[in-house]
Amino acid sequence: MRIILLGAPGAGKGSQAKKIAAKYGLPHISTGDIFRSLRPDTELGRLFNEYSAKGQLVPDDVVLKIVEERLAQDDCKNGFIMDGFPRTIPQAQAFEKAIHADVALNFQVDNSILMDRLTGRWTCKKCGTPYHVSTLGGATVCHCGGELIQRDDDKAETVSKRLAVYESQTKPLIDFYAQCGILKNLDASKPIDEVFEKIVQILDNL
Ligand code: AMP
Repeated sequence: MRIILLGAPGAGKGSQAKKIAAKYGLPHISTGDIFRSLRPDTELGRLFNEYSAKGQLVPDDVVLKIVEERLAQDDCKNGFIMDGFPRTIPQAQAFEKAIHADVALNFQVDNSILMDRLTGRWTCKKCGTPYHVSTLGGATVCHCGGELIQRDDDKAETVSKRLAVYESQTKPLIDFYAQCGILKNLDASKPIDEVFEKIVQILDNL
């Protein structure tokens, strides 16, 4: 199964990708996580920091190269879950030319919910687990012992920019995948387990 997760930042793609990966034994490929794992003193790491700090997308050619390298690895032979890619029409066109996806799951959530989820998100520096500040009760460490931090790009000003970038550059992918005939819409404002049940129904009927 080749699965694409579409949706604005904060729509819950990462959480659902982990659950899908565990149930179906597929690799979870998050381009954001790949970028964040780069050492900041490398050329690519610096480039990423420059764009993400402004809430902007990394140029298409850079992203496409990283995705191509990742998909060439053995664990992607039987499929994958793409989380955060493609994010522009040129990325989607290049990807479709090389590999047909089986389904594009579109996570629909109102902007007010997204703002709250992102600006209230604290992420473990060590394992990447996200938490909402309202559930932390003042805790500053993750269950793994890692320090919880607010990602620079989850600060209010940058979040507004990321949502604007989503509207202008990524939202057009909804029509793109509808035209490919593989789009499935989901109400992603619902609780995590409910959204996952819907996803399982869709995937089991492909
Ligand atoms: P994410 O964690 O998916 O929100 O990604 C964090 C940041 O990584 C984004 O704000 C972009 O700067 C960059 N990024 C991740 N995926 C892509 C992509 N497919 N195209 C361009 N930039 C990306």
